Amino acid sequence: MTNTGKQRLTILGATGSIGLNTLDVVARHPERFEVFALTGNSRVVELAELCRRYQPRYAVVADVAAATRLREALKTHDTRCTVLSGEEALAAVAAHEDVDVVMAAIVGAAGLQPTLAAARAGKRVLLANKEALVMAGPLFMTEVRKAGATLLPIDSEHNAVFQSLPANFNGDLDARGIRRILLTASGGPFRDLPLSAFARVTPQQACAHPNWVMGQKISVDSASMMNKGLEVIEAHWLFNAPAERIDVVVHPQSVIHSLVEYNDGSVLAQLGNPDMRTPIAHALAYPERIEAGVAPLDLFQIGRLDFTPPDHQRFPCLGLAYDALRAGGSAPALLNAANEVAVAAFLAGRLPFTDIARIIARVLERIPASALPDLQAVLQADAAARQLANALIANAP
Ligand code: NAD
Ligand code: MG
Repeated sequence: MTNTGKQRLTILGATGSIGLNTLDVVARHPERFEVFALTGNSRVVELAELCRRYQPRYAVVADVAAATRLREALKTHDTRCTVLSGEEALAAVAAHEDVDVVMAAIVGAAGLQPTLAAARAGKRVLLANKEALVMAGPLFMTEVRKAGATLLPIDSEHNAVFQSLPANFNGDLDARGIRRILLTASGGPFRDLPLSAFARVTPQQACAHPNWVMGQKISVDSASMMNKGLEVIEAHWLFNAPAERIDVVVHPQSVIHSLVEYNDGSVLAQLGNPDMRTPIAHALAYPERIEAGVAPLDLFQIGRLDFTPPDHQRFPCLGLAYDALRAGGSAPALLNAANEVAVAAFLAGRLPFTDIARIIARVLERIPASALPDLQAVLQADAAARQLANALIANAP
């Protein structure tokens, strides 16, 4: 904390959808937060503008070339910001002794190591980057415990579960009378699309989510429901819940963000408008509550809430994720890596939407799940799955 009592914040992935929403909440509370570091990948012009506005001590980009461009762009801005680049610099600004809070909002496997660095340094980690937990769940949770880090979920469903769990929940569902965790899913843009049309959907259609504005990768994951699959695995690690006690409920309005069912019949839920600033503000201020800029929920305008079970034929990725969770070991890391490669190929117009699930299934069939004793094993599983997925896509008819 600063000597004026402000929380010092590093935002990994500041130029993305979650990063910008975080800065929106932070800007509403200049008396509470000070931005320590902002990181981006290639959007240098946007990052330079954020540096001018938020005056971080450090800005980190992917490589030396991007760092040169950022320094150049900052010359015309009035900042005292030091520009760094590369993976080590990402980890350094996540673990720096002057940092209190780290928002982990890099998309995909690239976020694993800096997020892990923040956990190892015992920070308050605001976890948006679900892929890190899917890949390396046991390792990540061990580091959090060892370092005494505070892990607060940003994913709206997990943040809702966290809010609906008893205070000081320590991972023992039975001891606290918890029967089930219910994750809600909007069903995405293809909830009602005829099955015959799935093979021809475009990236643009897949990214047009009915309720949320998000980065491209998670938008495609939402359209395939792999996002919900990744979230089932994420919930397993966050709340120590076995696969059979995590259920998915399709709820198209995205007003109930998730629910916890207790053995006395009570079901607690968190509701709100679909706006990521609510979970972000919750985690930033926890256990206090702060203004997030989110409009109050108008129940009369919403009128009704609908619920249906997920359609596994339409969304095979959800079943693949449950299978990977049950298989354990490296299976979720393989699933995640194959999905990242397949989604990138779909976005580049090189793979039909329906082949995303097919590629992931092949990778899981061909690479047997192994134990994950350490980070090296996680990275090996990730690399092997990427290599096979790329080969399968290149050789596809
Ligand atoms: P996004 O694509 O909008 O932003 C991603 C950020 O990561 C950008 O700042 C980008 O510069 C950075 N980045 C990308 N590749 C990188 C790399 N190789 N190295 C370093 N930085 C890199 O994504 P988003 O929608 O903000 O999602 C971020 C994370 O939050 C994802 O893991 C996603 O699943 C999760 N999440 C997002 C939402 C949402 O509403 N957007 C909701 C729940 C969870
Ligand atoms: Mg979510």
